[in-house]
Amino acid sequence: MEEVIIVGAGPCGLSAAVELEKIGIRPLLLEKNCLVHSIYQYPVNLQFFSTPQLLEIGDIPFTTPNEKPMRQEALTYYRNVAQHYKLRIHSYEAVTNIVKEDGCFRLHTADSFDQRREYEARYVIMATGYFDHPNMIGIPGEELPKVSHYYREAHPYTGMKVAVIGGNNSAVDAAMELQRVGADVTVIYRGRAYSPNVKPWVQPNFESMVNKGRIRMLFNSSVIRIDSNSVTVNTADGELVLENDFVLALTGFRPDRKFLQEIGVRLQGDYGIPVHNPITMETDVEGLYIAGVIASGADANEIFIETGRKHGLWIAQHIADKEGAR
Ligand SMILES: Cc1cc2nc3c(=O)[nH]c(=O)nc-3n(C[C@H](O)[C@H](O)[C@H](O)COP(=O)(O)OP(=O)(O)OC[C@H]3O[C@@H](n4cnc5c(N)ncnc54)[C@H](O)[C@@H]3O)c2cc1C
Repeated sequence: MEEVIIVGAGPCGLSAAVELEKIGIRPLLLEKNCLVHSIYQYPVNLQFFSTPQLLEIGDIPFTTPNEKPMRQEALTYYRNVAQHYKLRIHSYEAVTNIVKEDGCFRLHTADSFDQRREYEARYVIMATGYFDHPNMIGIPGEELPKVSHYYREAHPYTGMKVAVIGGNNSAVDAAMELQRVGADVTVIYRGRAYSPNVKPWVQPNFESMVNKGRIRMLFNSSVIRIDSNSVTVNTADGELVLENDFVLALTGFRPDRKFLQEIGVRLQGDYGIPVHNPITMETDVEGLYIAGVIASGADANEIFIETGRKHGLWIAQHIADKEGAR
């Protein structure tokens, strides 16, 4: 029987693991991909909007010559933290089912080679994030192979007509890179003006590209249909059909709450936030905790690494209190 199993080795799962190590509990982390897989999937050249200090976990300094770290530096940093604390991580092992029986949790897993395993744990911390579940737009053609909800790098789009859907950092960063490699870029955004979330040091460059006609920016607009050679856009001035080769639908992500609901956690409010104690992060199923973005419900923007990294400390303190009282 494991004392604590953490599902997901993103920054917030790792932070919880380190905090437990500090109080003498050696948790097991089950991660269905690689360590910090969400960050691994970020655009290759991504620069964080957070300073390195605000991404730190486990009292390990995050140093970089850059004011804001790059994706590659964050991969190195979180890898170093895991190695420093000798965290027990089973990578490429996905949790497929969790049940609570006789006061303990039973977790079923499948690894990449389809080996199945079963574990028992007294406490479970769900830290599965949101990156596997993009917000679907729900329009005809969204399932076409030319449509992606993830952007990695610009090179494959050289000389292509690309529609970028969205107006936040992901869309703005992608559009700028795409323009630089010679793609014909149109950004289609529902908002009436530039999003206030766009990194302030990026926005002037983006606006300048738009003003010079290098990027076409459509405000107040939404794509209503995607076909193999075109996209149809609803704009304030009526419908527009644009020639198109690729669509990058960068419309954000939402946490999957399937496991939580199956174990009996209730969801509350419009955003379906899992019922939990915000001081301890314990859900309404005793012994089951949530850490990181999964605690945020459907609007996944209110919790990010800066804030979600603190959950681990609160959870470790609560488990320590419970164990002390036993
Ligand atoms: C482009 C981009 C830039 C960002 N920049 C910043 C920034 O500058 N600052 C900031 O604070 N935040 C930033 N964020 C947000 C940040 O990435 C997330 O808030 C953060 O990743 C959440 O951490 P987490 O540990 O909760 O979840 P995640 O990092 O998503 O980790 C969850 C892990 O759980 C694993 N998992 C999922 N399901 C299972 C399962 N069934 N079994 C086992 N493992 C499973 C996943 O593979 C994943 O590794 C950015 C996000 C994006 C997309």
